[in-house]
Amino acid sequence: MSDDTTADEREDELNASVLVVGGGPAGLSAALFAEKNGLETTVFDTDETWMHKAHLFNYLGIGSVGGSEFMATARQQVDDFGADRHQGEAVTAVEENGDGFTVETEDDSYEADYVVLATGANRDIAEDLGCEFTDEDVVDVDVDMETSVEGVYATGAMVRPEEWQAAIAVGDGAAAALNILSNEKGEYYHDFDVPADAERIFGEELAE
Ligand SMILES: Cc1cc2nc3c(=O)[nH]c(=O)nc-3n(C[C@H](O)[C@H](O)[C@H](O)COP(=O)(O)OP(=O)(O)OC[C@H]3O[C@@H](n4cnc5c(N)ncnc54)[C@H](O)[C@@H]3O)c2cc1C
Repeated sequence: MSDDTTADEREDELNASVLVVGGGPAGLSAALFAEKNGLETTVFDTDETWMHKAHLFNYLGIGSVGGSEFMATARQQVDDFGADRHQGEAVTAVEENGDGFTVETEDDSYEADYVVLATGANRDIAEDLGCEFTDEDVVDVDVDMETSVEGVYATGAMVRPEEWQAAIAVGDGAAAALNILSNEKGEYYHDFDVPADAERIFGEELAE
């Protein structure tokens, strides 16, 4: 990212779409980074996130927050940046179509250049897509969260046998979206904001 390029100019340069399957911490984190940085992003979620059973005392930077409250804030944040969130719409199938991916839901059919899977402990869609699994029977990903199927990423609980934490899921989603952005840019992409960006976005409402 060059210092003399504005965020708006960076967004204008991108022309790629991302479909995120699952709107727990992993999926919403991927959606936030993708949409915020100019990728056309759609999220499908059926609201069975484990976060509704959790209360977080171990999420760095947050002292104590209920899991459902955390999800409400996360959804608002993703919506505020403009992602298209389809709450309550289940994805039934994902297929390669030669030029990207087709995602089927109970209601409609969608196409995209990239797919981010974030379906919690349910790995059925990854299996149907032909993603490789590890010896411990979780989806095999690299450090950027890309699966063995090019353009398909897997994040959060579905890539770990047991070590399940919201903070890890959020990191996975961010890593996947940043890798897609780097792919599209042809160079490593940094989503770095500075105090002037906060002033630009929040203006007089900015808290000290
Ligand atoms: C009782 C309990 C307490 C916990 N306490 C903590 C804690 O204190 N701290 C902590 O860090 N973590 C805690 N966790 C773990 C934390 O909730 C998980 O690590 C986290 O939710 C995983 O995030 P994820 O995005 O990978 O999956 P999930 O949060 O499970 O989200 C997956 C989402 O994908 C959706 N989905 C699945 N399939 C589809 C489909 N086909 N189409 C559309 N949507 C789909 C689901 O409905 C769900 O909303 C706790 C979990 C439990 C069960």
